[in-house]
Amino acid sequence: MEAYKIQQHKYDVIVVGAGGAGLRATFGLAEKGLKAACITKVFPTRSHTVAAQGGIAAALGNMGEDDWRFHFYDTIKGSDWLGDQDAIEYMCREAIPSILELEHYGVPFSRTDDGRIYQRPFGGMTTHYGKGTAQRTCAAADRTGHAILHTLYQQALAHDATFFVEYFAIDLIFDDEGVCRGVLALDMNEGTLHFFRGQAVVLATGGYGRAYFSATSAHTCTGDGGGMVLRAGLALQDMEFVQFHPTGIYGAGCLITEGVRGEGGYLTNSKGERFMERYAPSAKDLASRDVVSRAITVEIREGRGVGEHKDHVHLNLMHLGAEVIHERLPGIAESARIFAGVDVAKEPIPVLPTVHYNMGGIPTNYHGEVVQKKGDNVDAVVPGLFAIGEAACVSVHGANRLGSNSLLDLVVFGRAVSHRCAELVKPGAAHKDLPASVLDKALARFDGLRNANGSTPTAQIRMDMQRTMQKDAAVFRTGETLKEGKQKISAVYDSFKDVKVSDRSMVWNSDLIETLELSNLLAQAVATMHSAEQRPESRGAHAREDFPERDDHDWMKHTLVKVDDNGNSSFDFRPVHMYTLTDEVEVVPPKKRVY
Ligand SMILES: Cc1cc2nc3c(=O)[nH]c(=O)nc-3n(C[C@H](O)[C@H](O)[C@H](O)COP(=O)(O)OP(=O)(O)OC[C@H]3O[C@@H](n4cnc5c(N)ncnc54)[C@H](O)[C@@H]3O)c2cc1C
Repeated sequence: MEAYKIQQHKYDVIVVGAGGAGLRATFGLAEKGLKAACITKVFPTRSHTVAAQGGIAAALGNMGEDDWRFHFYDTIKGSDWLGDQDAIEYMCREAIPSILELEHYGVPFSRTDDGRIYQRPFGGMTTHYGKGTAQRTCAAADRTGHAILHTLYQQALAHDATFFVEYFAIDLIFDDEGVCRGVLALDMNEGTLHFFRGQAVVLATGGYGRAYFSATSAHTCTGDGGGMVLRAGLALQDMEFVQFHPTGIYGAGCLITEGVRGEGGYLTNSKGERFMERYAPSAKDLASRDVVSRAITVEIREGRGVGEHKDHVHLNLMHLGAEVIHERLPGIAESARIFAGVDVAKEPIPVLPTVHYNMGGIPTNYHGEVVQKKGDNVDAVVPGLFAIGEAACVSVHGANRLGSNSLLDLVVFGRAVSHRCAELVKPGAAHKDLPASVLDKALARFDGLRNANGSTPTAQIRMDMQRTMQKDAAVFRTGETLKEGKQKISAVYDSFKDVKVSDRSMVWNSDLIETLELSNLLAQAVATMHSAEQRPESRGAHAREDFPERDDHDWMKHTLVKVDDNGNSSFDFRPVHMYTLTDEVEVVPPKKRVY
């Protein structure tokens, strides 16, 4: 093995990722006087959060009555009773101060006539526990993520945070007592290796949407944090729950925000029918995402799709008028023009359900501390390790995330981590002495991949993985497709042993980086397919045609999955938290989920 020269850096806390979650944590840590470093593989404001359009939920009540308890109820129902109710309580209550803070930090929210933050309706959001429609989603036109990300980056710079931009985190480094001590990373400009030491490491690496062929997520969404966690021998949670957004642009996959339906847009089939009226009589086009994605899939399957191949449906916003479109949805008009060649004021947009969000991820408690099941303790904390944002599974989204609850999750738990680290980490405390051998395993793996000289190119293995996931871990699943999918994805995983890395240079556009990312995606593709295969019920985004009902008696529990180096999965389970943190709100017992 090549003798790599390694530079060491010491900080109080290391944050990996500079999306909304990572930036909120980095800035919060710096604000609390901790020496924080943020490592990111892309420039901070290029993180996927920048693409978030629709908005961020908080029961501010600026556009009519609202209460954080209604938000709590909607989120539990949206989660199909798989979300942890203590964490959901924390998120919905803390939403209000978190958003007001964002406003004060400088996020340019759209305004009402009397100057308050503008809020639009979104799917699954109600008042009075399902009775009315809530306008709860705070928006900066249709560029909310962009506005939030830029503001948080400026705040992080204004405080004393240090950024390591275009550094790729390779692996977590643990001491022999299982305490996370830092991360090994590659500087992709210079091609050098670095060991970042921290009293705590916060993973904020985003989702793994790119395990699928057609996804709204950026090409950088390769689930690197989840990959590192699996390699450390830890479990991921609820990986079978993958959200398909009902309205990706047909062919291109780019997102058309749910905010379009919030502003009055609606779906039609080839007969011009507003078919959502049949599937969700009261919420209609604003039913929750899993419900709308299934409805579209059924319409297409039964021959009522539009276009030459009858394989998509239409999203109409012609009736909204040029003024509303221009003011509230300018980016959508632009995307539709560029990616579908459509003038939204005159024609409908062709849309199709597209992979959008990972409910599953690295299990944490509501402080953002990573937890694992250890003996009788189902929520034992992994010392030194935190996870937030889409990489994490708190679990506030359960089996299905409500639109505008992810941006919220980023800021609420990014903030919670900075609070927790301020309690646990002493600024400037000495770092534990570690033997040089702590890096051996990570370096050996890195060197092995760098010199991989098999016969299958990285790009081919990635394509095989993406097609398998797209076909067999889709909107609807059956025992048969999943069994086949499980075999196929395991075969793809095995083919990685024969990978050929054609460009070994340690810089950002090399085949080596793509290969490191692919290894992370593959382990999570296996985790997703295998987890889906073992859950014989339909819940939220996991829709089994052979088990159409939810089975609360046997399956109201979180899946914990480990994937070993050979791609073998093993399972365990932990109960859903059916308790709250205070008595200001009551536990919502499971009932049938209708919209
Ligand atoms: C098109 C689109 C629109 C959306 N709209 C909304 C919306 O309106 N409302 C809403 O609530 N949610 C929305 N979502 C969901 C939400 O935007 C995402 O879940 C969220 O932005 C994820 O943020 P994050 O901070 O967890 O990760 P990301 O924003 O994905 O950032 C990940 C960060 O990790 C870094 N990173 C990753 N791997 C490594 C590595 N190995 N080494 C170093 N750095 C690494 C990256 O550089 C990046 O900085 C949308 C999602 C998409 C795709």
